[in-house]
Amino acid sequence: MRTGIDVAEAQRTVLAAARALPPETLALTGVAGRVLAAPIRSGRTLPPADCSAMDGYAVREADVGAASASSPVSLAVAYEVPAGGRAPRALGEGEAARIFTGAPLPEGADTVVRQEDAEATADRVEIRTSPRCRDHVRLAGEDVREGDLVLGPGTVLGPGHIGMLASLGRTLVPVHRRPRVAILSGGDELVDPDHDVSGGRIVASNAYSLAAQCEEAGALPTNLGIARDTAEDLERMLRAGLDADLLVSSAGVSVGDHDHVRPVLEKLGCVLDFWGVKMKPGHPVAFGRFPDGRGPLVFGLPGNPVSAMVTFEQFVRPVLLRMGGRERVLRPTVRATLSEGLTKAPGRLHFVRVGLERDGHAIVATPTGNQSSGVLRSMTLAQGLLVFPADASEIAAGAAVDVQLLDLEWLGHADAP
Ligand code: AMP
Ligand code: MG
Repeated sequence: MRTGIDVAEAQRTVLAAARALPPETLALTGVAGRVLAAPIRSGRTLPPADCSAMDGYAVREADVGAASASSPVSLAVAYEVPAGGRAPRALGEGEAARIFTGAPLPEGADTVVRQEDAEATADRVEIRTSPRCRDHVRLAGEDVREGDLVLGPGTVLGPGHIGMLASLGRTLVPVHRRPRVAILSGGDELVDPDHDVSGGRIVASNAYSLAAQCEEAGALPTNLGIARDTAEDLERMLRAGLDADLLVSSAGVSVGDHDHVRPVLEKLGCVLDFWGVKMKPGHPVAFGRFPDGRGPLVFGLPGNPVSAMVTFEQFVRPVLLRMGGRERVLRPTVRATLSEGLTKAPGRLHFVRVGLERDGHAIVATPTGNQSSGVLRSMTLAQGLLVFPADASEIAAGAAVDVQLLDLEWLGHADAP
């Protein structure tokens, strides 16, 4: 087991162990945000035939090439083609067909005149513009051709992809399964949120913040509950999480006398890969797996609420996204200007919770107050995590810094009219 490794090495290690989960086939209505597990080739050509893009008249360019408002051309309206209908016969010389958006163009017609540019009388129509061939015509196959590779594996399915799958008639879609995560809290002082907190009891809030982080990463969390600080209780509860894809234990991986998680995990056959990452908050984070590859990936996160969340961000979230089939698993970073100077001892990488504000085209980052790993408020006020590199000891006010963006909505919104 390695110990005292840096954040990048720990991240490489956990990602190297993460595999996209096998596909499941779901109804099209349930795949938004999921990741496609197989290529989608089209069995259709769309549109299947040349069709009208407007309500108007299908005509022959040769008949109306010289038409204008001052010298309109009069054509006989031979028939009507509604959307979903088809022309009874080819369009002849001097003829027009009343046509509606989406209806197939009659044979012989090569262009469409919008109804605004025509004047209908009884069974004739006057054309007042000279359209060019293919005006207001959607060409067969201009969207998709039969056999095209339309969506590649790894596509994160959004509304456009889902509309396309519907158009292709693909009502069953192979997507990567969502990772199931078992979350365990451990500590004699911990209680559920509705419990009395006098006498030094502490709410096991991590089970809630971590479950929300799991959901945000597309995973399905289950709360295993609170284990007491005994090896027996921990073992019993950890066993309940062994059929998950990933097991997260919060608290109990530091070096305190009552920290039984490590020995119990080892007893269960989990091989710890690393313990201790040079970061703050969150140094006592552990990662392990079962040698036969059959058990869950196991993360031992620190107990302090901010440490638990920040270590989840750096290590668990990317792994869950990868398990769900995603290629892009890291938060976007923005370059920001630090509003106040920061200092620390060199050695560990610090993740400083910052609020972000725009100043013209610049982004200004300001620490969100008390940065103690127990102060959850610093997370509630943060839009990002400022990366204070391990070997640095000072960042001056006004310096450019990298900030991991936790809150994508912060990037901006349009003002409502
Ligand atoms: P530990 O890692 O067990 O030394 O815990 C560090 C701090 O985090 C202590 O103040 C614990 O009470 C607190 N803590 C441990 N587990 C949780 C949890 N699941 N939710 C909230 N706080 C916790
Ligand atoms: Mg504890």
